[in-house]
Amino acid sequence: MKIFISADIEGVSGVATNVQLTKEGEYQRFRRLYTQDVNAAIAGAFDGGATEVVVADGHGNMSNILIEELDDRAVLISGNNRVMCQLEGLDESYDGLFFVGHHGREGGDVRAVINHTLAGICVSELKVNGTVLGETQLNARVAGQFGVPALFISGDDAYVEEVKRDLPHIEAAIVKWGIDRYSAKLLPPAKAQQIIREKAKAAMGLIGTAKPKRLDGQVTFEVTFKNTAQAHMTTTIPLIEQTSPTTIRFTTADMVTGYKLFWGCVIIAMTATNGVLSAANA
Ligand SMILES: [Zn+2]
Repeated sequence: MKIFISADIEGVSGVATNVQLTKEGEYQRFRRLYTQDVNAAIAGAFDGGATEVVVADGHGNMSNILIEELDDRAVLISGNNRVMCQLEGLDESYDGLFFVGHHGREGGDVRAVINHTLAGICVSELKVNGTVLGETQLNARVAGQFGVPALFISGDDAYVEEVKRDLPHIEAAIVKWGIDRYSAKLLPPAKAQQIIREKAKAAMGLIGTAKPKRLDGQVTFEVTFKNTAQAHMTTTIPLIEQTSPTTIRFTTADMVTGYKLFWGCVIIAMTATNGVLSAANA
Protein backbone atom coordinates (compact mmCIF):
# COMPACT_ATOMS: atom_id res chain seq x y z
CA MET A 1 0.00 0.00 0.00
CA LYS A 2 1.45 3.31 -1.14
CA ILE A 3 0.93 6.56 0.75
CA PHE A 4 1.79 10.07 -0.44
CA ILE A 5 2.39 12.66 2.29
CA SER A 6 1.98 16.34 1.40
CA ALA A 7 3.85 18.14 4.18
CA ASP A 8 3.70 21.78 5.26
CA ILE A 9 5.04 23.56 8.32
CA GLU A 10 2.44 26.00 9.68
CA GLY A 11 0.32 23.23 11.18
CA VAL A 12 3.28 21.44 12.78
CA SER A 13 3.34 20.72 16.53
CA GLY A 14 4.73 23.70 18.45
CA VAL A 15 4.27 26.30 15.69
CA ALA A 16 2.20 29.27 16.91
CA THR A 17 3.46 32.30 15.00
CA ASN A 18 5.24 33.32 11.82
CA VAL A 19 8.50 34.54 13.43
CA GLN A 20 9.26 30.94 14.43
CA LEU A 21 9.52 30.06 10.74
CA THR A 22 11.48 33.10 9.51
CA LYS A 23 14.02 34.04 12.20
CA GLU A 24 17.10 31.89 11.45
CA GLY A 25 17.71 30.43 14.92
CA GLU A 26 14.03 29.69 15.44
CA TYR A 27 13.60 28.20 11.94
CA GLN A 28 16.28 25.58 12.67
CA ARG A 29 14.26 24.43 15.71
CA PHE A 30 10.98 24.31 13.88
CA ARG A 31 12.21 22.47 10.80
CA ARG A 32 13.31 19.72 13.18
CA LEU A 33 9.81 19.60 14.72
CA TYR A 34 8.44 19.55 11.16
CA THR A 35 10.61 16.51 10.38
CA GLN A 36 9.45 14.82 13.59
CA ASP A 37 5.75 15.33 12.80
CA VAL A 38 6.33 13.87 9.33
CA ASN A 39 8.15 10.90 10.89
CA ALA A 40 5.20 10.31 13.24
CA ALA A 41 2.84 10.13 10.25
CA ILE A 42 5.24 7.81 8.37
CA ALA A 43 5.37 5.52 11.43
CA GLY A 44 1.57 5.52 11.67
CA ALA A 45 1.26 4.67 7.97
CA PHE A 46 3.61 1.69 8.34
CA ASP A 47 1.84 0.63 11.60
CA GLY A 48 -1.35 0.56 9.52
CA GLY A 49 0.07 -1.58 6.71
CA ALA A 50 1.80 0.84 4.31
CA THR A 51 4.58 -0.66 2.23
CA GLU A 52 5.80 2.53 0.57
CA VAL A 53 5.69 6.18 1.71
CA VAL A 54 6.71 9.22 -0.33
CA VAL A 55 6.88 12.63 1.36
CA ALA A 56 6.73 15.91 -0.57
CA ASP A 57 8.04 18.94 1.34
CA GLY A 58 5.59 21.68 0.35
CA HIS A 59 6.59 24.69 2.46
CA GLY A 60 8.40 27.81 1.30
CA ASN A 61 11.34 26.79 -0.89
CA MET A 62 10.27 23.16 -0.38
CA SER A 63 13.59 22.23 1.22
CA ASN A 64 12.95 22.26 4.96
CA ILE A 65 12.67 18.64 6.10
CA LEU A 66 15.96 17.31 7.51
CA ILE A 67 16.69 14.38 5.20
CA GLU A 68 19.33 12.99 7.60
CA GLU A 69 16.61 12.64 10.25
CA LEU A 70 13.84 11.26 8.03
CA ASP A 71 12.45 7.80 8.81
CA ASP A 72 14.57 5.54 6.57
CA ARG A 73 11.52 3.66 5.27
CA ALA A 74 10.34 6.78 3.38
CA VAL A 75 11.73 8.88 0.52
CA LEU A 76 11.58 12.68 0.21
CA ILE A 77 10.70 14.96 -2.67
CA SER A 78 12.59 18.16 -1.92
CA GLY A 79 13.40 21.41 -3.73
CA ASN A 80 11.26 23.79 -5.75
CA ASN A 81 10.57 24.27 -9.49
CA ARG A 82 7.89 21.59 -9.46
CA VAL A 83 5.16 21.74 -12.06
CA MET A 84 2.85 19.82 -9.69
CA CYS A 85 3.68 22.01 -6.68
CA GLN A 86 2.78 20.26 -3.40
CA LEU A 87 1.79 17.03 -5.19
CA GLU A 88 4.87 16.47 -7.34
CA GLY A 89 5.22 12.73 -7.90
CA LEU A 90 1.61 11.79 -7.15
CA ASP A 91 -0.04 9.41 -9.62
CA GLU A 92 -2.66 6.64 -9.86
CA SER A 93 -0.42 4.11 -8.11
CA TYR A 94 -1.06 5.57 -4.62
CA ASP A 95 -3.71 4.28 -2.20
CA GLY A 96 -4.03 7.41 -0.09
CA LEU A 97 -2.98 11.00 0.54
CA PHE A 98 -1.94 12.36 3.96
CA PHE A 99 -1.55 16.04 4.88
CA VAL A 100 0.90 16.73 7.70
CA GLY A 101 1.29 20.23 9.18
CA HIS A 102 -1.15 21.95 6.84
CA HIS A 103 -3.20 25.01 7.85
CA GLY A 104 -6.48 26.88 7.37
CA ARG A 105 -7.22 28.95 4.29
CA GLU A 106 -6.56 32.68 4.00
CA GLY A 107 -9.44 34.71 5.41
CA GLY A 108 -11.27 31.75 6.95
CA ASP A 109 -11.51 31.18 10.72
CA VAL A 110 -9.79 33.92 12.78
CA ARG A 111 -8.32 31.18 15.00
CA ALA A 112 -6.62 29.34 12.13
CA VAL A 113 -2.88 29.55 12.82
CA ILE A 114 -0.85 31.30 10.07
CA ASN A 115 -3.81 30.91 7.72
CA HIS A 116 -3.02 31.44 4.04
CA THR A 117 -3.71 29.88 0.65
CA LEU A 118 -0.57 28.54 -1.04
CA ALA A 119 1.27 31.88 -1.08
CA GLY A 120 0.46 34.39 1.65
CA ILE A 121 2.18 37.17 -0.29
CA CYS A 122 -0.32 37.11 -3.13
CA VAL A 123 -3.44 34.91 -2.79
CA SER A 124 -6.49 36.35 -0.98
CA GLU A 125 -9.01 33.74 -2.09
CA LEU A 126 -9.26 30.70 -4.34
CA LYS A 127 -12.54 29.36 -5.70
CA VAL A 128 -12.95 26.19 -7.77
CA ASN A 129 -16.35 25.77 -9.42
CA GLY A 130 -17.66 28.47 -7.08
CA THR A 131 -16.43 26.88 -3.83
CA VAL A 132 -13.81 28.65 -1.70
CA LEU A 133 -10.94 26.25 -1.06
CA GLY A 134 -7.81 26.03 1.06
CA GLU A 135 -4.69 24.10 0.07
CA THR A 136 -5.86 20.80 1.52
CA GLN A 137 -9.24 20.92 -0.24
CA LEU A 138 -7.53 21.91 -3.50
CA ASN A 139 -4.95 19.12 -3.31
CA ALA A 140 -7.66 16.60 -2.37
CA ARG A 141 -9.47 17.41 -5.63
CA VAL A 142 -6.27 17.04 -7.67
CA ALA A 143 -5.58 13.66 -6.04
CA GLY A 144 -9.20 12.76 -6.80
CA GLN A 145 -8.48 12.89 -10.51
CA PHE A 146 -5.80 10.22 -9.95
CA GLY A 147 -8.35 8.17 -7.96
CA VAL A 148 -6.44 8.76 -4.71
CA PRO A 149 -8.51 9.56 -1.58
CA ALA A 150 -7.43 12.04 1.14
CA LEU A 151 -7.19 10.08 4.39
CA PHE A 152 -5.39 12.08 7.08
CA ILE A 153 -4.67 15.63 8.25
CA SER A 154 -2.74 17.16 11.16
CA GLY A 155 -2.81 20.76 12.32
CA ASP A 156 -4.83 23.16 14.49
CA ASP A 157 -8.47 22.67 15.49
CA ALA A 158 -9.83 25.44 13.22
CA TYR A 159 -8.07 23.88 10.22
CA VAL A 160 -9.49 20.48 11.10
CA GLU A 161 -13.03 21.93 11.31
CA GLU A 162 -12.56 23.65 7.94
CA VAL A 163 -11.37 20.48 6.20
CA LYS A 164 -13.99 18.23 7.79
CA ARG A 165 -16.76 20.40 6.32
CA ASP A 166 -15.39 19.38 2.90
CA LEU A 167 -14.01 15.90 3.65
CA PRO A 168 -16.09 14.56 6.59
CA HIS A 169 -14.51 11.09 6.54
CA ILE A 170 -10.93 12.25 7.09
CA GLU A 171 -8.89 11.15 10.15
CA ALA A 172 -7.52 14.19 11.96
CA ALA A 173 -4.79 14.77 14.53
CA ILE A 174 -5.35 18.07 16.37
CA VAL A 175 -1.92 19.14 17.64
CA LYS A 176 -2.91 22.65 18.85
CA TRP A 177 -5.87 24.96 19.37
CA GLY A 178 -5.82 28.26 17.50
CA ILE A 179 -6.31 31.57 19.35
CA ASP A 180 -5.41 33.98 16.54
CA ARG A 181 -3.54 33.83 13.23
CA TYR A 182 -0.40 34.28 15.35
CA SER A 183 -1.11 32.47 18.62
CA ALA A 184 -2.19 29.03 19.75
CA LYS A 185 -2.50 26.72 22.72
CA LEU A 186 0.06 23.98 22.08
CA LEU A 187 0.52 20.34 22.98
CA PRO A 188 4.15 19.39 23.65
CA PRO A 189 5.50 17.82 20.43
CA ALA A 190 6.11 14.39 21.96
CA LYS A 191 2.41 14.15 22.90
CA ALA A 192 1.24 15.64 19.59
CA GLN A 193 3.39 13.21 17.62
CA GLN A 194 1.92 10.26 19.52
CA ILE A 195 -1.54 11.45 18.40
CA ILE A 196 -0.33 11.90 14.79
CA ARG A 197 1.01 8.35 14.77
CA GLU A 198 -2.23 6.87 16.17
CA LYS A 199 -4.51 8.83 13.81
CA ALA A 200 -2.29 8.09 10.81
CA LYS A 201 -2.53 4.39 11.59
CA ALA A 202 -6.32 4.71 11.88
CA ALA A 203 -6.40 6.54 8.53
CA MET A 204 -4.94 3.45 6.83
CA GLY A 205 -8.19 1.70 7.77
CA LEU A 206 -10.09 4.07 5.46
CA ILE A 207 -8.43 2.59 2.37
CA GLY A 208 -11.08 0.83 0.35
CA THR A 209 -14.00 2.87 1.74
CA ALA A 210 -12.88 6.54 1.51
CA LYS A 211 -13.91 7.99 -1.84
CA PRO A 212 -11.56 10.14 -3.93
CA LYS A 213 -12.77 13.77 -4.22
CA ARG A 214 -13.21 13.75 -7.95
CA LEU A 215 -14.59 16.64 -10.05
CA ASP A 216 -15.91 15.56 -13.42
CA GLY A 217 -15.94 17.83 -16.45
CA GLN A 218 -14.48 21.30 -16.92
CA VAL A 219 -13.15 23.16 -13.91
CA THR A 220 -13.33 26.92 -13.36
CA PHE A 221 -10.81 28.65 -11.10
CA GLU A 222 -11.33 32.17 -9.72
CA VAL A 223 -8.38 33.69 -7.89
CA THR A 224 -8.39 36.96 -5.96
CA PHE A 225 -4.92 38.38 -5.44
CA LYS A 226 -3.73 40.88 -2.85
CA ASN A 227 -2.86 43.60 -5.35
CA THR A 228 -3.71 44.65 -8.88
CA ALA A 229 -0.24 44.00 -10.34
CA GLN A 230 -0.34 40.37 -9.25
CA ALA A 231 -3.67 39.83 -11.01
CA HIS A 232 -2.81 41.89 -14.08
CA MET A 233 0.49 40.14 -14.94
CA THR A 234 -1.18 36.70 -15.02
CA THR A 235 -3.09 37.90 -18.10
CA THR A 236 0.14 37.37 -20.10
CA ILE A 237 -1.26 33.82 -20.36
CA PRO A 238 -4.00 33.81 -23.04
CA LEU A 239 -6.49 31.68 -21.07
CA ILE A 240 -6.59 34.13 -18.17
CA GLU A 241 -9.49 36.58 -17.97
CA GLN A 242 -9.32 39.47 -15.50
CA THR A 243 -12.75 39.97 -13.93
CA SER A 244 -11.92 42.73 -11.42
CA PRO A 245 -8.77 44.73 -10.58
CA THR A 246 -7.60 41.90 -8.29
CA THR A 247 -9.51 38.85 -9.57
CA ILE A 248 -8.85 36.48 -12.48
CA ARG A 249 -10.76 33.52 -13.88
CA PHE A 250 -9.94 30.58 -16.13
CA THR A 251 -11.49 27.27 -17.15
CA THR A 252 -9.61 24.06 -17.94
CA ALA A 253 -10.65 20.62 -19.16
CA ASP A 254 -9.74 18.92 -15.86
CA MET A 255 -8.47 19.50 -12.32
CA VAL A 256 -4.81 18.56 -12.84
CA THR A 257 -4.51 21.02 -15.73
CA GLY A 258 -6.22 23.69 -13.64
CA TYR A 259 -3.89 23.04 -10.69
CA LYS A 260 -0.80 23.52 -12.85
CA LEU A 261 -2.21 26.72 -14.36
CA PHE A 262 -3.19 28.06 -10.92
CA TRP A 263 0.35 27.37 -9.69
CA GLY A 264 1.73 29.12 -12.80
CA CYS A 265 -0.44 32.17 -12.03
CA VAL A 266 0.77 32.18 -8.42
CA ILE A 267 4.40 32.06 -9.61
CA ILE A 268 3.73 35.05 -11.88
CA ALA A 269 1.86 36.91 -9.13
CA MET A 270 4.63 36.37 -6.57
CA THR A 271 7.18 37.62 -9.10
CA ALA A 272 5.00 40.64 -9.99
CA THR A 273 4.63 41.79 -6.38
CA ASN A 274 7.44 44.33 -6.67
CA GLY A 275 7.74 44.43 -10.48
CA VAL A 276 8.86 41.38 -12.45
CA LEU A 277 12.28 42.82 -13.28
CA SER A 278 12.89 44.49 -9.93
CA ALA A 279 16.21 43.96 -8.15
CA ALA A 280 14.50 41.60 -5.72
CA ASN A 281 13.90 39.11 -8.54
CA ALA A 282 17.14 39.57 -10.51
ZN1 LIG B 1 0.83 26.09 2.99
